[in-house]
Amino acid sequence: MSSRRRRRRLHSRADFHAAKRIVIKAGTSVVSCDEGFPSLVRLANIVESAAKLARAGKEVLIVSSGAVGIGRRKLHNQFMARQSLTDVLRKGASGIPSIVDPHTRISYNSACAAAGQMGLVSLYETMFSQFGLSTSQLLVTAFDFTSTERKNNLEYVLSELLDLGVIPIINENDAVTGNMGYETCGEFFADNDSLAGLVADLADAQLMILLTDVDGVYSCNPKLPSARLIDVLEKHHVVDIGEKSLYGRGGMKSKINAMFQAADNGVDAVVIASGKKQTIIDRIIAGEHVGTVAFAPDEDAEAVEDPLSPPGSGRSTPDSKLDAITMAQAARTEGRKLKLVSTDVRNAILNRIASELELKQEEILEVNKLDLAAAAASNLSLQLLNRLKLTPTKVSSCVNFLDHNGVGMA
Ligand code: GLU
Repeated sequence: MSSRRRRRRLHSRADFHAAKRIVIKAGTSVVSCDEGFPSLVRLANIVESAAKLARAGKEVLIVSSGAVGIGRRKLHNQFMARQSLTDVLRKGASGIPSIVDPHTRISYNSACAAAGQMGLVSLYETMFSQFGLSTSQLLVTAFDFTSTERKNNLEYVLSELLDLGVIPIINENDAVTGNMGYETCGEFFADNDSLAGLVADLADAQLMILLTDVDGVYSCNPKLPSARLIDVLEKHHVVDIGEKSLYGRGGMKSKINAMFQAADNGVDAVVIASGKKQTIIDRIIAGEHVGTVAFAPDEDAEAVEDPLSPPGSGRSTPDSKLDAITMAQAARTEGRKLKLVSTDVRNAILNRIASELELKQEEILEVNKLDLAAAAASNLSLQLLNRLKLTPTKVSSCVNFLDHNGVGMA
């Protein structure tokens, strides 16, 4: 299902409540404290909000880091417990093996992850079970996204679990990847932000929330007084991301990359926000302007421009072309206004348009035939002709979509 194009459901923050499938990614800096202990408060916040969403009928998938961080403390304690008093007196109490050598670092981090993952998922399981919800664990590697067979299996398992209302808790299988991430997936960055993006794409999620230790993306280094939190991030924005957090592999750069990668692949909206703020997930879903959001590319933009571009089509004379441009611009302006009105008013307007479309279906199809004939005479490409062509099925799916107030259709 990767990179499939769906009809966009979320056009603004006010639509987030309508997201059916949501991926929440929690970074190491969120799920664990500086000392390497799990942050029970922050984990509980995430679980409580996710449980609320699940109980309201949403499908929630959690991508959680933190295994390495939590496991590091466990291995450290184990190391200390195995030292004799003489060893400790001789070598000092640091006890942590040297991680300068890359091989040691890779295997040590992987061992930490193997030890920490159990504690991490058991916390999720215990907390979700208090809300009457079941959880599952999926540990994946880059290979699972590049091999069609494995990817299909993963997609199938995710959909089975979600159908049954079981919450997937997903992490990298660090023990076999050496905590090296997903480099082999082409443009993806090697961390759990990109994993969340891959999962959101695979699961066809509408909303992805990347929880980290800063409030979102800033216009410049957040340490500078002139830094301003960006509400909606566009691809062309240039941001100075400042320093990477001490914990976890990803940084703001990888979050922004994962954000746009997911948005380009059809995840309607991606939010980067602080997982250190209580109820942050609830506030995002409620449409509050918290964190930074990026939206999937606007399909309307293509729809407005493409039909106008071919020279010599049925609407190709300067006057009629201008007319079409004016109409398209007016439609876009009205479309934007529609997003600002209350849900009831919007639904009433959409239903009215649906019935008008239904009533005038024959007339619309007749006019479309004329347009098609003129377009064909002007050698319009087959691809554009197909886009221009209306059929009763196309019209009724449009009516259906509007009848569902633009949110209920896949
Ligand atoms: N899989 C790693 C962990 O559980 C985290 C990787 C990352 O932070 O991107 O600790």
